[in-house]
Parts: sequence; structure tokens; C-alpha cells
Amino acid sequence: MDISAEMLGERAFSEATMRARLPKAVFKELKKTIDYGAPLDTSIADSVAIAMREWAKELGATHYTHWFHPLTNGTAEKHDSFMDPVGDGTFITEFTGKELIKAEPDGSSFPSGGLRDTCAARGYTVWDCTSPAFVKDIPDGCKVLCIPTIFISYTGESLDFKTPLLRSMDVVGEQALRILKLFGKTPVKVTATVGPEQEYFLVNKEKYEKRLDLKITGRTLFGAQPPKGQEMDDQYFAVVKDKVSHFMKELNRDLWAYGIPAKTQHNEGAPAQHEIAPIFGNSNIACDQNQILMDTLKRVAARTGFACLVHEKPFVGVNGSGKHNNWSLVTSDGEKLIDPGKENIENNLQFQIFLAAILAAVDDHAELLRLSASCPGNDHRLGAHEAPPAIISVYLGDQLDDIVNQIIENGEATTSLQRKMYRAGSLVIPTFKMDATDRNRTSPFAFTGNRFEFRMVGATQSISMPQFTINTIVASKLSDMADILEKSENFEEDAKKLVAEMLRKHQRIIFNGNGYSDEWVKEAERRGLPNIKRMVDAIPYLTTDKTVELFERFGVLNRRELEARAIVMYENYAKTINVEARTMLEMVNRQIMPVVMDYETKLAEGLVALKSLGVSGSAQSQIINDIDSRLGELKVAIKELETRLEKAEQYKNDPKAWAHYYYDEIFSYFDTVRKPVDELETMVGSDVWPLPTYEELLFEQ
Ligand code: ADP
Ligand code: MG
Repeated sequence: MDISAEMLGERAFSEATMRARLPKAVFKELKKTIDYGAPLDTSIADSVAIAMREWAKELGATHYTHWFHPLTNGTAEKHDSFMDPVGDGTFITEFTGKELIKAEPDGSSFPSGGLRDTCAARGYTVWDCTSPAFVKDIPDGCKVLCIPTIFISYTGESLDFKTPLLRSMDVVGEQALRILKLFGKTPVKVTATVGPEQEYFLVNKEKYEKRLDLKITGRTLFGAQPPKGQEMDDQYFAVVKDKVSHFMKELNRDLWAYGIPAKTQHNEGAPAQHEIAPIFGNSNIACDQNQILMDTLKRVAARTGFACLVHEKPFVGVNGSGKHNNWSLVTSDGEKLIDPGKENIENNLQFQIFLAAILAAVDDHAELLRLSASCPGNDHRLGAHEAPPAIISVYLGDQLDDIVNQIIENGEATTSLQRKMYRAGSLVIPTFKMDATDRNRTSPFAFTGNRFEFRMVGATQSISMPQFTINTIVASKLSDMADILEKSENFEEDAKKLVAEMLRKHQRIIFNGNGYSDEWVKEAERRGLPNIKRMVDAIPYLTTDKTVELFERFGVLNRRELEARAIVMYENYAKTINVEARTMLEMVNRQIMPVVMDYETKLAEGLVALKSLGVSGSAQSQIINDIDSRLGELKVAIKELETRLEKAEQYKNDPKAWAHYYYDEIFSYFDTVRKPVDELETMVGSDVWPLPTYEELLFEQ
């Protein structure tokens, strides 16, 4: 496989394609909106629609869809064919500007948090011309032109993840421009960017098919620990197996075709775990592309003999999967605003202003940031002795930490740690200048040289909410700072003073040590930093006055929209745990118990036979007793789980109470059901155990 220019983006209606296919004046108009955020001139829509349709048809597309991000963390599409009957039994292919710009899907069939009644259905999807349309190419399936859109209710509220993200990008861009203006810089635009690293597991498809839990819930609800996990540290960056390499080749080809700049791939920490990272770019486009990526991971896996697990915690006992959102701001002139440069960092006042704004934002809105990385699966990672901890802190590294300390003590920094030369001790190895700062793997919000890496996000999550949260909280601090500094008569002096003041106030959020240690938990508590371990405890922070004020101040989301999202999150939690519980019941009642009872009976028959020969059969007798006691324990646990599930119904009209009930009474009870099953797995013959084991799933890809 060559990487050829034509391959890159062949399925995306990219800028280059638009330039080639649109009338010059139309392209120019569209570019104004894409590049500078100018309002879209809708009169060009017909012209764009024709070009888009012709291009899509050449790729084999027969249908088009408005493609949007409802509040499910996934995407939605409803296909319409390009066919239009003309009345004489024939048809023409039709796709108009009107159809490109707006459609009316049923707004009540998606999570709306009460914003839409079942009977009040109208909703709108509206074209986002800044994110390239693309043709979804399913081998042997329909090829569909997908048009990225926002999704709003008839009453005007956002029902999706794209609208607030777009708004937040405008907001943080505008506020960053105000700061840059103080330095005499006037780029046209500042764009929030993200490079999302995506972790995932690949398991053998046939084995996956036999695991109802993986198919229905995305994670194993049962499974005894294998003899080997990840303790040897021999999977991270390890040699990629042939079959996985084939998967990666197919994956890259598909991603590149969609215009996704897939760059880095490697084996991750846990057995059967891998990572893919595209090159960073515009947050909105990266968010769309991350959704395409997750979809493509699953599709390519299915056709190369795998199943791809994107769940945050498919297996107990080994690492779960997350997303690392590498966040930064870039100007239209190409200046990276989160990059302090290599030299004279101590004098880089502009960077120090952005740094102070970010530290203040993260400290003041730590709970909200934690919430933005909340989904049911992520509860298994955050606050559960796994990377990263649920406590939000910022890692700066030695060099920035030293500068921050100088500013805090003296009001300004005058020196910065110098980079040392590395000499390998062998002349054949080149020398080089090392970074002045180490990296920290345990920090949830880590400075990594020219960006901040938010490492808390769950693997299944849309990256929209973490992104629009960071954009908005940083915008609010930049705005506060600009308000003060725009009035200043002595800009440099006042800016330094303001930076020092803010760093002093928010220093507690900086932590450069081991975020996994128990000492940090105690230290964070002493500093007054929140440690929110469960999703259900994070959700209330979406609707506090402070959050509402923040989002309303910049028009990113209003109170009604925030309250609705909180309800959606509570309901999502309760429903997810409910599905897991019911899957457990089904697996125990219909797969595990029947097999164990058969096995036990067979042993018992054997024991009777042994005894008839005058043999004691004491080992057999002991095994039967061990199995029987676990079986009894399991039966009791299952009965109890059923009873608890029945009781959940009474909370259904109160989403918060419902979610809490599911956490306290159902989720917390899962281990009681799981324990006897996992013990039975180690007692029953491997030829009869109905489920592929952890060993098979993790080591026999
Ligand atoms: P890591 O060493 O953290 O695992 P990876 O190479 O897997 O790093 O991914 C790093 C991600 O950060 C990539 O998506 C990369 O494009 C992105 N990135 C690099 N520089 C920037 C930047 N200035 N702003 C935002 N993202 C960036
Ligand atoms: Mg990585």
C-alpha cells in the first residue's frame, strides 16, 4: 500500500475537492465562512449541493444523510436516496441547496432530558459547512453522503454535541484575540485544536460472539483473572502481531480516505490493547473525525477477524481505555499560543498570560472538568486505582514550575532551566539537547511542551464535552484578564502583576508528583481539591449557578439546556447499569447455571459409580461440594439482584434518585454476583465452560 496523494481524503468533500469542483465565487464565499467564521451566504447552497451530489455519485453514493451528534455519545443518520420521480415513471437524481442546509428529524426520539415530549417531535438539523462532508463507504453496503450538521429542537435548544462545541470555539477564539491585540498582534482568527489519542482493544471475533456481555454492554461482566496480565510490561510498544498489523493497515487506509490524518499507532499497556492517534487539528473537525474513527475501528475489526472494544473497562485487572485530548490554541498566522518556545521562556509574557488563564480556569472549574469526562464506563477508571485519578490537577514540569515559582515569589521570572546536552558515551550515537522538562503519565491535565493533555476522557465518549468545557472555562479567564488589561495604562507592568496574582491564587492546582499515590489523595484533600469518584456525584456540577453563569455568559449553553443534559446523564447512567444487570441475569440463568448444574450432575454420577466400586471418591466429593456451595451462593445473589431491579422502577420519574439507586443498589451489588461465577470458572472443566475466558480473549487475538 502506497500513501498516495489521491488516497488522502478521497472520501471527504475537502477544501481541495471544493476548490476543484465549485464555481470560483462560490468557493470564495464558502472559504470566508470556513476560515474566518463569517455568516454563511445561503444563496450558494444550491451550487454547493450540485457539486457535492455529483462528487458523491462518482464515489458510488446513492443516498445522503444529515449526520449529527445527539446526546448519546454516538452519531445519527437517516438515509434519503438522491432519487426523485418526475411523474412519468422515470426519475432524476436530485439534491438541492435546501436539502443540504436543513432537515427535520424527529426530535423526540433522541435523549432530550425532557426538552421534548414524545408527542412534540419537531427538530432541525442544520449544515455545518466547516466540517467536510464525506461518503461513508461500507463494503457491499450502501454508500451514503454524510453531511455534518448541528441538531436543535423546534424550541431552539441544542440537542447535540456539535452546537456547544462550535459556540465554545468562537468564544475562546474571540477572547484569545483580545489578549493578542494587547501585544499588537491581529491574526484573523484563533482556533481551538485537539489531537485525540484513542485507546481500544481487539479481541477474536468468534470468541467475542460467544460473550453476551461484550456484545450487549461492551465489557466483561464475568471472568476469572488469567495467569498473566500486564505485570511484565511487555505489551506497551511491543511488536505488533501480523493479524493486528493487517487490521492497522486496513484501518489507516480507511481513515486516510476519510481525510483523517491517522499518524501514530502502537500496542498499549494491557494485552490486546492498542492506540491510534491522528495529527491534531480544528476541534470541531477532530470531534467529527473521532466519531468516524470509532465507527471505522469497529467496521474494520469485523472484516479482519476481530471485534473492537472501545469501552472504558472491558476487563477487570488490566488497564482500561481512555482518550487523551491534546488541547491547544493556534492563530490563523500559525502561532501556537500554548507553546512557550525553547528559549527565554522566562520573558514570554504572552505565554504566561495564557498559562495563568488555564491554571485559573482548571482550578476554578475542576468539578466541571471532571464532569466532562464522566460516563458510566469511566467510573471504572477514575477514582478506581487506575489512570488517571479523579482528582483534577495540572502538571507543569520542572521548567514551567520553576518559572511559576519565580513569578509567585518575585513578581517575575528572570531565568529558566536550561536544556542539557545528552551524550550516550558512545561516539556513534548523536548528541542532542534534551528537553528541560520531564513528562508525567499520572497527571489528568499535563503540560506536554506545546499543549495540555487532558487524559481523563473515556474511550467511548464524544470529545465534544471535554473540549467545549476547556474552551469555555479558559475563555472566561482570558476575558476577565482582557477586561483588566485593556484598561491598563502600563500594560507590561500590570500584566505581570495580574499573572503573579493569579498564579498565587491558583498554585494549589499544580502537582508534579505521582498522581496514583495515596499521599496525593491526602495532600489534595488538604489543598481543598475535589475528588469526585463517581459519575453520579459529578452530574450536579452541570447545573450549579456557577456553571450556568459561565455557560450563559458566553452563550454556549443556557440553563434549560444544561438541566436537560444533567437529566440525560442521570438517565444514561441508570439505563446502562440496568442493561448490565439484565445481561448478568441472562448469562447466569441461561448460560452459566445450566452448564454448572450439568457438570455437577455428571460428577455426582461419577461419584456414585466410584462408590459402587468401593472407592471413596473423596476428591470428587469435595469438588462437588465446592461447586454446589458456589452455585447456591450464585442463586441467592441472582434472586437478590432481581428483587433490587424490580424496586428500581419506583424511582423512574426522578432521574437523580434513579441513577443513585442504580449505583448504590445495583452496580455496587455486581461483585456479589460475579464472585461465585468467577470461582466456578476455575472449578469447571474448560471444555464445558460456556464463555471464552480472559486468557482466550486477551492472549488469543
Ligand atoms: P503521546 O506521546 O502523548 O502518547 P501521541 O503521539 O500518541 O503522544 O499523540 C499526541 C497527540 O498530540 C497527537 O494527536 C498530536 O498531533 C497532538 N499534538 C501535537 N502537538 C500538538 C499541539 N500543539 N496542539 C494540540 N495537539 C498536539
Ligand atoms: Mg500516545
